[in-house]
Amino acid sequence: MTKELKNLIAGKWVGSEKTFEKRSPFNGEVVATVHEATQEMVDEAVTKGREVSIGARANEWGNMPLKQRLAIIHDFSDRLLKRVDDLVEADVADTGRSYWQACNFDGARAANLFRAYADLAVSLENRSKTFQGEMGFQGLWYTTRRPKGVIAAICPWNVPLLMASMKVAPGLVMGNSVVLKPSEETPSSATVLAEVIAESDIPDSAFSLVHGFGVGSAGAFLTANPKVDAITFTGETGTGTAIMKVAADGMRGVSLELGGKNASLVFEDADMDKVVEGTTRSAFFNCGQICFCTERAYVHRSRYDEFLERMTEVANNIVIGDKNHDGFNIGPLVSHGHRDKVKELLDTVKEDGGEFVAGGGIPEFGDERDNGAFIQPSIAVGLPEDARFVKNEAFGPVLHVAPFDTEEEAIALANDTVYGLGTCIWTENISRAHRVAPRIRVGHAWVNSWQIRDLLSPLSGAGASGLGEEGGKLSLEFVSQPQTVTVRI
Ligand code: NAD
Repeated sequence: MTKELKNLIAGKWVGSEKTFEKRSPFNGEVVATVHEATQEMVDEAVTKGREVSIGARANEWGNMPLKQRLAIIHDFSDRLLKRVDDLVEADVADTGRSYWQACNFDGARAANLFRAYADLAVSLENRSKTFQGEMGFQGLWYTTRRPKGVIAAICPWNVPLLMASMKVAPGLVMGNSVVLKPSEETPSSATVLAEVIAESDIPDSAFSLVHGFGVGSAGAFLTANPKVDAITFTGETGTGTAIMKVAADGMRGVSLELGGKNASLVFEDADMDKVVEGTTRSAFFNCGQICFCTERAYVHRSRYDEFLERMTEVANNIVIGDKNHDGFNIGPLVSHGHRDKVKELLDTVKEDGGEFVAGGGIPEFGDERDNGAFIQPSIAVGLPEDARFVKNEAFGPVLHVAPFDTEEEAIALANDTVYGLGTCIWTENISRAHRVAPRIRVGHAWVNSWQIRDLLSPLSGAGASGLGEEGGKLSLEFVSQPQTVTVRI
């Protein structure tokens, strides 16, 4: 029987007359029937959320002593960890990825974020100072951080549980109410998360879950509601731009984590075993659907053939579409719609003068997976730097490879994009690593690896990759308002 996924509006599970089907990108089967939230449901979630965060009932959450609130979050975190298998199962069903990936990348790692943020909140310092003011007055000021109110958390589909946890955890910890809108492609793990919240001691109105789409649906209803005090969004640059415009009305804060077209630089002194291991993950992990994935590799001419030969071999032998494979493997893209976009970009390679040394098309299995949204891991060469495959984000398992001759040229190639999210620098020369990293305009540079990430470390994007910072203390600061109180003494 297909699951029915409903909205959780301030403690009540609410169905809708309007539903949509969530289909598996693994084999096209229906995973769930999802109830699309109406304008009224979204408005109720926001209005009730305001009451317990900064409104008349703030004593129930926003004004609750920190220690008491964090004890509730700790207890919730323990409950969530007991449901990790269900959370993993939900993400596997929605995305078609393997258990290996869902367990290693999100799973408990995501669930643990609630406890981590609660522990971090304790260490936020309240600043204070005595001072000599104007006209001889003596004063003492102290600054605390107050909840902003209602935080709209709008998530993409690529790592659903992790994305939701990264936004919901800091919001709740700081005493806000959070209205979570997961992607229409991945409604399931957010629903399990909501089930656990509903059973916990987190007050009903402090969290709501609304399902639906963007324009004309839950996403737009949420961002346009003037009682939403801040919006944390991860997704495409175009969507982020639209949301920023809406948020300008009422001066609501936005934190936008957006797209990328990340470059890796492989220098002549790189350790090629490390490069191949890292680039296998950076180009193809999660079928290329991680914002930090590498889509461009620039390789010193002296190592170019070696790199290309080894990466071609990797791409041609990746395990595809085995949910139970316990090692590196990839699943499908998230949907047929997304595969159409990636395929369209693959089809520009020949037109723009390049060729594939691996992949370039849709794999054939001869079984149910042929109804899925699979694509081959693909490596293209011979393209000019202004080719569409080189310029546009694919968000799929694709790699453009080109040679360079000098360090300056490599830096210029990496920076020749409107995006500025991540990079990998492959070199055994420590001076070079530290010389090159600050010259690449990105929020995160990895040296001799990719995506070993402390989830509490700062996350930001330059240029079209985002606005504002998240991660650890920065996330806690985004969802709270500093308030200074000055006393005459
Ligand atoms: P998307 O922008 O299409 O959708 C993201 C979310 O926004 C979804 O929940 C969607 O329903 C909602 N939405 C769409 N239009 C809206 C609107 N007008 N108002 C309010 N909500 C709206 O992105 P996606 O396809 O889900 O995700 C892929 C993108 O996310 C890629 O570009 C990828 O690079 C980016 N991403 C970035 C990071 C990062 O940390 N920088 C992390 C993961 C993914």
